Amino acid sequence: MHLRDLIDLTDLRPSELTDILRFAGEISQNPSYYCGNCQHKIMATLFYEPSTRTQMSFQAAMLRLGGKLIGFDDPENSSVAKGETLKDTVRVISNYADVLVIRSPWEGAALAASLYARCPVINAGDGGHLHPTQTLTDLTTLNYTVGRLENLTVGLCGDNKNGRTVHSLVRTLSRYKNNRFVLISTPQLTLPQYLQDEITANGCTVEFSHSLEKSIPALEVLYMTRIQKERFGGDEEYERQKGVFVLDAAKLALAKPSMRVLHPLPRVDEISVEVDDDPRAAYFAQTEYGLYARMALIQRITENEDRQVPPTLADTHQARCGNPRCITQKEEYLPHLFRETAAGLVCKYCDRAVSE
Ligand code: ASP
Repeated sequence: MHLRDLIDLTDLRPSELTDILRFAGEISQNPSYYCGNCQHKIMATLFYEPSTRTQMSFQAAMLRLGGKLIGFDDPENSSVAKGETLKDTVRVISNYADVLVIRSPWEGAALAASLYARCPVINAGDGGHLHPTQTLTDLTTLNYTVGRLENLTVGLCGDNKNGRTVHSLVRTLSRYKNNRFVLISTPQLTLPQYLQDEITANGCTVEFSHSLEKSIPALEVLYMTRIQKERFGGDEEYERQKGVFVLDAAKLALAKPSMRVLHPLPRVDEISVEVDDDPRAAYFAQTEYGLYARMALIQRITENEDRQVPPTLADTHQARCGNPRCITQKEEYLPHLFRETAAGLVCKYCDRAVSE
């Protein structure tokens, strides 16, 4: 398999996704067997936004494959502080590395980077939009702890509006048969409409809930998320939203013994520490599966030796994306790219409809 980039898991053919998940499973059985597989490869991590787990698990994954690392996690200490564009940074660093891993507060930044990189680009989180490698982690965890990716009732509880891990997860999991999503949040933090539409277009069902107690007994998976403070305009709204949904031992007592609790972490206060020792808590094991999932992805993506810069793209339409968090608002040289859908033009970088 020769993957060029991983911007979104829906870029992969189902067989490619299955292959990565299967490979992650194989690696988990005997990780040291793979220790030389990326021996002469270099991974660059371009982190424009704070990260602990994602950055370290990518770094650990590459080191465990025998590869080497370059990069930055504080753009203030790089040429970005001198005003360098994303395009130039990516053009330069992709001459030094075999794969770029990018995290940015801007939606669509990884896609933008992939337009100029001479090596594959992995999206490690683009603002409140997507986080595909967390989804690889989540699917690997589900394979191991629940044993299947279809016929599941999945509760998503917390910040479904801004949680990029939720967005990537529902987008991918709704491609598997017969999954049912119970969206548990305040009305203000509900899942964006375009993702609700995608779930139903994929043949899965969506339900809405404002009560974790009422919804928990039916769930096979409960995916908790933190309220994404950094995506709020001000502290006041954040204060109103935080602490509304908390999973504690009393609520967990209402759940099936076989239910699994996942969380991309970091946790703030949405899961009480008393839940950590319950056998249903899978969120710490999840971080280990993330390592194997990233090892599998890095190995597959660095099999691609094609170092061509993609051809320059031209604007596809006169239209402009109105999302203030879209990378096209910051990096003005980017071509304006849209998909034509039944709902009208949709920005390829951030998935927002032009009419929104
Ligand atoms: N670590 C995850 C992310 O980067 C979840 C979170 O920050 O809440 O999106």
